[in-house]
Amino acid sequence: MYLKLLEDLVSFKTVTPEGGDAINYCASFLEKLGFKCLKLNFGNVSNLYAKYGNFAKNICFAGHVDVVPPMDGWHTNPFILTHRDGKLYGRGTNDMKGPLSSALSAIAKFLNANIPDFSVSVLLTSDEEVMGDDGTSRVVDWLVGHNEKIAGCVLCESCSPKRAGEYIKIGCRGSLNVDFTSTGAQCHVVNGKQYGNHLHDFATFLSQFANTSLDEGSANFAPSDIEMTSIDVGNGTRNVIPSTATAKFNIRFNDNWSFDTLENLIINKLPQNVSVKFKRFTAPFIGANEEFIRFCTSAVTKTIGVVPECGTYGGNSDAVSIHRITNVVEIGTPIANAHIVNEWCSIEELRVLESIYHSILSSWGN
Ligand SMILES: [Zn+2]
Repeated sequence: MYLKLLEDLVSFKTVTPEGGDAINYCASFLEKLGFKCLKLNFGNVSNLYAKYGNFAKNICFAGHVDVVPPMDGWHTNPFILTHRDGKLYGRGTNDMKGPLSSALSAIAKFLNANIPDFSVSVLLTSDEEVMGDDGTSRVVDWLVGHNEKIAGCVLCESCSPKRAGEYIKIGCRGSLNVDFTSTGAQCHVVNGKQYGNHLHDFATFLSQFANTSLDEGSANFAPSDIEMTSIDVGNGTRNVIPSTATAKFNIRFNDNWSFDTLENLIINKLPQNVSVKFKRFTAPFIGANEEFIRFCTSAVTKTIGVVPECGTYGGNSDAVSIHRITNVVEIGTPIANAHIVNEWCSIEELRVLESIYHSILSSWGN
């Protein structure tokens, strides 16, 4: 069933925030299974919260229908699902219409054969790829406002550094943007030695900063990482030393740090003529308690016969919002195939994910 679902989902051109038609498609699929569907549209973003039954023990499958733009260079039409040698090509097949199809298919299989004494819910958005204000975070606010409880959530996200199912993402490093500006004398290049060339000092500072070792990691997290993303002087003239230069960094940091301790470290390293601006994104977090992680690990192990690795590899996802209200883990396709031209996932991976999601549903009532 997941192949038909994926074929239909890929055909919707859901570049963020477009997603209304794909959300309606999922809603009508779930309505036929007996779900009560609430379309929670905010701004130009389409969201869905669908729930089967009305029990406190509510297991949620979350995801997104939006995709990144297709870009040039495809061998096939990115919005027509194309099978080739066990691979399924199309924009979103990996991230994450493929895993979403596996989840919907697992839910249908499970409900067609069981009458559960728990609730199953589905939370979908059309703005995950930009993580704006009107997607999952707004839905989470809505759920809080309406006292709607979720006991545990599986985010069917493209997240695995290994094969599908062999990795459970249980949290994420924090993210901080750091912008430096160096200021110095603006002068003719021949006067560089006389007035001092702040660009030379800035280059030395940037190199030292980029090579700073912040820590060696922690129990659930890789070492914190400083990456330079841009250096800008904007000087089109060869005989002038400009008065300002800027550089941009992003730091992915683990739970050895808070925003405050990290920012203080940077402020204390600053040369006198360099100023800094910070933009805080997300603090590092573990999204689920040990019990829920154990539950998911055991459901995966039962299905594929391999104990999955649990970790916090990769970038931010809607787990950032969902973990505010419940236990959330991510189980999905290998992230190496996400966002690429000629995006694909294998049929086998979707089959494995369908079995894992089904196993989670089967074990949830026990
Ligand atoms: Zn995704």
